[in-house]
Amino acid sequence: MDLLGPIHGPIERTPRYNAAEELVYTILSQHTSDVNSTRAYDNLMTTFESLDSIAAAAPSEIEDAIRRGGLAAQKSVRIKEILIQVKQEVGSYDLSFLAEMPLDEAKAWLKRLPGVGPKTAAIILCFALGMPAMPVDTHVHRVSKRLGLVGSKVSADKAHDVLEAKVPPEDVLPFHMYLIYHGRQVCKAQRPRCGECALAWGCPSRAAIEKAAKRPKGRTAGNKPRKVEKEASDD
Ligand code: SF4
Repeated sequence: MDLLGPIHGPIERTPRYNAAEELVYTILSQHTSDVNSTRAYDNLMTTFESLDSIAAAAPSEIEDAIRRGGLAAQKSVRIKEILIQVKQEVGSYDLSFLAEMPLDEAKAWLKRLPGVGPKTAAIILCFALGMPAMPVDTHVHRVSKRLGLVGSKVSADKAHDVLEAKVPPEDVLPFHMYLIYHGRQVCKAQRPRCGECALAWGCPSRAAIEKAAKRPKGRTAGNKPRKVEKEASDD
């Protein structure tokens, strides 16, 4: 935090949507780019104008509206099921009550919904409701493993709880954002730029990554795949 903060600057939470809308958006964002999910979300809301109308629509109508986001058949069913379940249980789409719950209970409430895993739940709680939930995407997962903050065999799903236990609640959002920036710009999946990295002095992966990068192309250590190439497959 102390080293990445001055590079990337202060992070302020600026909610895009309310929690239920963020939930719909996050389902749309699964396995696609921000550009595609934003287009799909905007088209969905323009087409139906309200969450109630989406819940009442046929899955095929939702599918048509979100086609730009990919996996439209699967996502259309999930979105409809989620909205129906939320309305039945809460009586509205107002999920602000989650912010009054202990973090673990709020996560558990969301993860009962179809298609909602640890990352989706953390995004809703962190970005829409300002709770100290740590979303672990591919960048946060990869950089955390390279820095030794989570074990090399810890899955992204399990890394949520590991990182939350290590990061003070007030630092969860900036930590999440800084690791994404760092993963995109410096600690890339392929060819991490360790020589330019502000965290290199304390990174336990640097030596192995730089050694692997110096090997002739196509050569591996013994019969094992090169570490950098293996990590690239995580994305
Ligand atoms: S030293 Fe290399 S592996 Fe370690 S965090 Fe920096 S870029 Fe990533």
